[in-house]
Amino acid sequence: MAQHSPMTDTSTAAVSLRGIGKQFGDLTAVKDLDIDIQPGEFFSMLGPSGSGKTTVLRMIAGFEEPTSGQILLHGADVTRAAPFDREVNTVFQDYALFPHLSISENVAYGLTVRGIDRAQKRRLVDAALEQVRLGHVAGRRPSQLSGGQRQRIALARALILRPKVLLLDEPLGALDKQLREQMQIELKQIQREVGITFIFVTHDQEEALTLSDRVAVFNGGKIEQVGSPREVYEFPQTAFVAGFLGVTN
Ligand code: ADP
Repeated sequence: MAQHSPMTDTSTAAVSLRGIGKQFGDLTAVKDLDIDIQPGEFFSMLGPSGSGKTTVLRMIAGFEEPTSGQILLHGADVTRAAPFDREVNTVFQDYALFPHLSISENVAYGLTVRGIDRAQKRRLVDAALEQVRLGHVAGRRPSQLSGGQRQRIALARALILRPKVLLLDEPLGALDKQLREQMQIELKQIQREVGITFIFVTHDQEEALTLSDRVAVFNGGKIEQVGSPREVYEFPQTAFVAGFLGVTN
């Protein structure tokens, strides 16, 4: 990850979206969105399929350019910056591990393409594998790991680049319920240890409410409500939020 830090003012939001919109032809995927996400926050974007969550995540990552509005990372305007030039990294639902590389080569990948020397690479890979408690699988291939282990390796690979913001797109979506609950606990623990901002996309309300400091509830490319899990659950501000969270009172 780039070492130059455009701004170190800790009063600045980690991510600011200002009037962000995205059109795909005639389709408005995201409408005039404003969000400030604070450094170290576990922030979830929750909503039904097609509500625009992934598009917002992809715009923060730099994989999609907004049609309107501005994206700031720690105060610096990155609206048109390439993904590589942003201090963010993404963990995808399908993990996107390279099947022909060993686990340690997978985890080292971002360092290899950045030309980090071997000794340092080895140290960083060992530390990253230790962080997800998988030092013992370094020599294996992805196909030899369980789903939960693959997920932790994808996390280690993203964290090794020391991003300031980690974007997670339904990272637990492919796991069965029991493993999912276990991974939720681990994810939260890892986030506390590394202390970086996590932005998490999910359509699972229970998951968002369990993990997050704040949740934004999406509907039709807009945010219906943003607040702590307790606020959105106990005081839903719209009928949509109440219905989506299954609040019955
Ligand atoms: P979510 O993540 O909440 O499921 P998305 O952000 O993936 O929602 O999608 C929001 C809307 O934008 C959907 O109607 C989807 O079909 C559309 N969309 C997303 N990506 C593209 C694309 N590359 N081209 C055309 N339409 C897209």
